[in-house]
Amino acid sequence: MFEPCECGSGKSYLGCCARLHSGAPTRDAEELMRSRYCAFSRGNTAYLQKSWAAETRPLILDLDPAQVWTGLVIDRHEVTGPDTATVRFTATWRNGTHTGRVRETSRFRREGADWVYIDGT
Ligand SMILES: [Zn+2]
Repeated sequence: MFEPCECGSGKSYLGCCARLHSGAPTRDAEELMRSRYCAFSRGNTAYLQKSWAAETRPLILDLDPAQVWTGLVIDRHEVTGPDTATVRFTATWRNGTHTGRVRETSRFRREGADWVYIDGT
């Protein structure tokens, strides 16, 4: 059965974020952003911690299991330097009868072969 990836790529989860969640390096900041959104919707806190810059990573990450992520739109991916990039996105969620959206511009940095999330505004 085709299981579309939560990140909205149109590919199957196995052909998309699954390989990143199992340790394959991310190609660019947008791919990391998508894989982190997918990890949020799957409650994969280990991956979220691992892909978070050491200086901003929370010690404990508590996700609300009632918060259901319902969509991700990448508005803009901008390379800002040889090892830095920003991604502006809109993510929508539902929690019980409430719905909402998160609009953020996130900063990312390359560390070796991989990318990490720094912070967002
Ligand atoms: Zn994906």
